[in-house]
Amino acid sequence: MRTGILGGTFDPIHVAHLHAGEVALVQANLDRVLFIPAGDPWQKSGNVVSEARHRLEMTKIATESVTEFEADSTEIDRAGPTYAIDTLESFPAAEELFLIVGSDVVAGMRTWHRASDVMARVSLLVAPRPGEVPPEMAEPVSKATVLDMARLAVSATDIRNRVRKGQPFRFLVAPGVFDYISEHGLYTDSEIHDRVGLQLDQEDQP
Ligand code: ATP
Repeated sequence: MRTGILGGTFDPIHVAHLHAGEVALVQANLDRVLFIPAGDPWQKSGNVVSEARHRLEMTKIATESVTEFEADSTEIDRAGPTYAIDTLESFPAAEELFLIVGSDVVAGMRTWHRASDVMARVSLLVAPRPGEVPPEMAEPVSKATVLDMARLAVSATDIRNRVRKGQPFRFLVAPGVFDYISEHGLYTDSEIHDRVGLQLDQEDQP
């Protein structure tokens, strides 16, 4: 089994994630690509990230039409901080793992928890982002392949800003994800206000 792993905040999952997943599937001859939304602890570092249930649901909706794509709740289901190595070690040793990361992420991988164990376990597939030259694949970033994909200047940050400002964003996400964001009023001023307020209230609790 050759498994691609694409982890992220997915707030929201967008077309560049899906395109990278498909190119990885074809170029690296993978059997499947798992899209793994990061767990809630990300919120603790001052980032205001949408609730895990929304991010997971959008990931499920975006991937459901592709047989080889799977939304995976492993990191969301796990209590405590999320480390890539914990997720990687949960796979059988015989399974070949291909970690798909954007070119903006590669340089920082050396600082990941147990970085050399991560690099020893996976082959790296780098998704180039516009304006980002994939950095030198210096140690411990070895066994890296750059994906031959369209450079898409799409980011979740830009999509959230577009929603908040009432600007068009429909075709930057899968159709069902557009509907989900609209139905739940995600990323609007009032939703962000409610979310941040709730988080501050929770932090106030003893
Ligand atoms: P944000 O804007 O909130 O930081 P993002 O758009 O970078 O989010 P993430 O969920 O953080 O999305 O990304 C998950 C993975 O997908 C990361 O490895 C990231 O580098 C990669 N990625 C995101 N957008 C692109 C893109 N436009 N092209 C290639 N890779 C991308």
